Amino acid sequence: MDSSTDPGTPTDPAPARGSTQAVPETAPPGAAGGAAARDGATRNYDAVLDSAATEAKRWLDGVFDRPIPATRDIDTVKTAIGRELPQSGLEAEAVIEALAEAVEPGLMASQSSRFFGWVMGGTYPVALAADWLVSAWDQNAGMRDATPGVIAAEELAGEWLLQLLGLPADADVGFVTGATSANFVGLAAARQHVLDAAGWDVNRDGMSGAPPIRLIAGAERHGAVDLAARYLGLGAATLVPADRHGRISIAGLARVLGEGSGPAIVCLQAGNIHSGAFDDFAAASALCRAAGAWQHVDGAFGLWAGAAPSLRSLTAGYELADSWATDAHKTLNVPYDCGVAIVARPEALHAAFGVHASYLLTPMAGADPFEKVPEMSRRARGVPLLATLRWLGRDGVEALVTGLADNARTLADQLGALPGVSILNDVVFTQVCMAMGDDEATVAVGTRLLEQGRVLASPSRWHDRAVLRFSVSNWATDADEVRATVDAVRSALQPA
Ligand SMILES: *Cc1c(COP(=O)(O)O)cnc(C)c1O
Repeated sequence: MDSSTDPGTPTDPAPARGSTQAVPETAPPGAAGGAAARDGATRNYDAVLDSAATEAKRWLDGVFDRPIPATRDIDTVKTAIGRELPQSGLEAEAVIEALAEAVEPGLMASQSSRFFGWVMGGTYPVALAADWLVSAWDQNAGMRDATPGVIAAEELAGEWLLQLLGLPADADVGFVTGATSANFVGLAAARQHVLDAAGWDVNRDGMSGAPPIRLIAGAERHGAVDLAARYLGLGAATLVPADRHGRISIAGLARVLGEGSGPAIVCLQAGNIHSGAFDDFAAASALCRAAGAWQHVDGAFGLWAGAAPSLRSLTAGYELADSWATDAHKTLNVPYDCGVAIVARPEALHAAFGVHASYLLTPMAGADPFEKVPEMSRRARGVPLLATLRWLGRDGVEALVTGLADNARTLADQLGALPGVSILNDVVFTQVCMAMGDDEATVAVGTRLLEQGRVLASPSRWHDRAVLRFSVSNWATDADEVRATVDAVRSALQPA
């Protein structure tokens, strides 16, 4: 066994730190001892990081060509890993290599340029590299004073994002795991604000006995909004009917808002997962303002339309909202664990998540990152966002977003020209919903596509029909891959 990576040898820094294990025998005392330990640490990290880089590159080299669905099930992967916790440890490089070998067949090639499932972005090289740095730095990004390096990067990422999206410059930004958490953060600030306005201190008195909050959402809101509401004790939303594109009905919203009074929160949507449609924010906003309702926008993937002038008609008026939720790990193609919560009323955000929160009394300036999100300790997940924005520049972000939308339109046009295929949505953004003449035929095409493994689309139901949904969210999807996708669908129209 290579002694530099053997966890049992005294040169290994991990067991030596704070344990009863002796410091390296060769280490002289004092400062030089630190240097020797550091050298040992470098050697220990070197080999295993090289192993990880080798395995990662091998995965990435093959990810565009391999079958997209996983070929090994959970049980088989567990057996391949080895089901028993071993009594003694393994060499670090061996762990990494065996892990990659056991797990890889159970991975889905969601980074493939012909992957259109759910709404999942791939990973830009620069985003992945920055993500690795975040782990290597291992900073706890909760506190401003302690870790200024990553805080600076995250604060800039937040400022740049607000500029790109045309959202209020004084809005506050929190980095969370994904849009589910980002919706939770937005709605937590909303709850804080509307209850405070009704004279209720939710932090002190909780939700029982609180003035009832009317939570209002479109019939085609994402399930993440329901979850966020549930975490906050807001119950189920009153649903406003959706139009044929899946957008909240403005007349319906006016009616529901007019039916009651008191604290209200309205959840709007930028990007319906089936149609890609955007709610009419300007009209909704006027109604919300008149009713004194907090306006929240779930824009997990669709908020990025605001970064492209040619698509900005979709987001018109969204800047008037009070909070927004989005993901960098979808449209922006950053690795997972990068959601963003944006709140235009920092004092409500701070009151909801700050430890020292005394509503409206604590100045927001210099609030620690942990006072904006549910986590106290967390990785510096805003850094890959910064790196990706820095690499793309404004033009690159615009090109990415318009490119995804253009490819979606081309895909829809070409799929729609295939015999028996209908496209059910107006393709305004990145989502394409196709169906065959009947549900059975649609499901059969989806099954055959999955068996072929060259293209992955999501089987779903929309407006009472079985559909196959294509979400064009990957940076690497280009005209050739769109053509290859259409070819694959064509061949899946008939039984093999
Ligand atoms: C994906 C998605 C969510 C949830 O986001 P996560 O990052 O999976 O937590 C919420 N809303 C919409 C519209 C989505 O597409």
